[in-house]
Amino acid sequence: MINRVKGTYDILPDEIKKWQRLEEVIRNIAKLFNFDEIRTPIFESTELFHRSVGESTDIVKKETYSFKDRGDRMNTLRPEGTAGVVRAVIENKLYSNPSMPLKVYYNGPMFRYERPQKGRQRQFHQFGAEIIGAKSPLADIEIINFAATFLKALGIGDNVVKINSLGDRESKENYQSALLEYLKPNIEHFCSDCKRRYLENPLRVLDCKVDKENPYLVNSPKPIDYLSDSARIHFDQVIMGLDSIGLVYEIDKFLVRGLDYYTHTVFEIESNLATLGAQSTLVGGGRYDNLIQSLDGPDLAAVGFAFGLERLVLALDAKEEIQEPFIHCFFINLTDFINNNSLEIINNLRHGGLIVEYDFLNRNLKSQFKQADRLNPIFYLIYGDEEANKRVCRVKRRDNGEQLEVPLENLYQYLVRSITSNNCSSGDCSGCSGC
Ligand code: AMP
Repeated sequence: MINRVKGTYDILPDEIKKWQRLEEVIRNIAKLFNFDEIRTPIFESTELFHRSVGESTDIVKKETYSFKDRGDRMNTLRPEGTAGVVRAVIENKLYSNPSMPLKVYYNGPMFRYERPQKGRQRQFHQFGAEIIGAKSPLADIEIINFAATFLKALGIGDNVVKINSLGDRESKENYQSALLEYLKPNIEHFCSDCKRRYLENPLRVLDCKVDKENPYLVNSPKPIDYLSDSARIHFDQVIMGLDSIGLVYEIDKFLVRGLDYYTHTVFEIESNLATLGAQSTLVGGGRYDNLIQSLDGPDLAAVGFAFGLERLVLALDAKEEIQEPFIHCFFINLTDFINNNSLEIINNLRHGGLIVEYDFLNRNLKSQFKQADRLNPIFYLIYGDEEANKRVCRVKRRDNGEQLEVPLENLYQYLVRSITSNNCSSGDCSGCSGC
């Protein structure tokens, strides 16, 4: 038997509803904030990720799935979405659109060769959004608000929005030299990972997860104390904007995020739900004002975020969901399906937009009811020779057991009215004005 590759998994039919719900909420909230969808290829030139995510990051050094194609070109399965979006914006000159800034979102699989665990896979899914071409703190506020509103729409509470600023290029450079100066005599007090980061990507030392209480870490210089005047003003305005919409946040001076391209605002939303275990960060994002130019595009400031969908599914699992009706009707046939007009009735209801299911396995009556209950219908439609002779269908509500005979020519109308009005029991849709 051939098994799935380590770190990948199948999303099976009984799980798919949660994914579809996520996708629907993504589309709805994106519409609300006026973001358009963009779809970029799943693989890109390897160079794109080296130049954007950064040569020294864990993602590029250890986690990419890269391969040479038959034309001897190096390609990489995308480990994140921003690089591809930025490449597409530059290549298609989307920045020449008069209605800038560009507001786009994406949703799709990403690939990282990480150690798999709960909430961490090698193929996972990200929903991300980017505002490209806006330096204003309004764009940072819009992005953070979009992320928080999306979680609210999903009913995922118990989160903390953490925010920090790395400042502009000048602030980042000043901070980096201060940090290196501090770490040089103290690096032996840090974990082995941090010793490596000190040489390759010193900012990431602040992100140490091994010992957050380490006094050498706690006392190290923080980026927020090295902000230039303009970077400080930018951050203050972001904070004021979040306050004005009542969005609750925490300033986390240790937040730096893993990728090289971030400048100014960085943020994460962390969940306190126990189901998420160690992988509690639902979304991460921030501003990346220099990335587009460094990829040979115009000087365009940008800000974005990326959610991990697997973690959102885990967060949704933690909620007690009310079981929603799965289908409208289960058609219970008391005689031979093919030889009476059951299929025609079912087909007419379906063409009218009702979800109708029936038995394919020649089950007896009791088993048909059992099968129906598994699908949680609003109605059982009971139909046999007697009903066929009378040109009626017996309709039984599953919630209260009420039952009545409805003439076949009224059946569709009756079902639709009962579903929308939820209390009709007359069965006479020809003259009734009750609904
Ligand atoms: P990043 O692109 O690393 O900033 O990650 C953004 C979000 O994507 C994280 O907050 C996670 O929710 C999710 N994520 C990142 N890596 C993985 C992974 N290997 N498996 C599942 N989700 C991930």
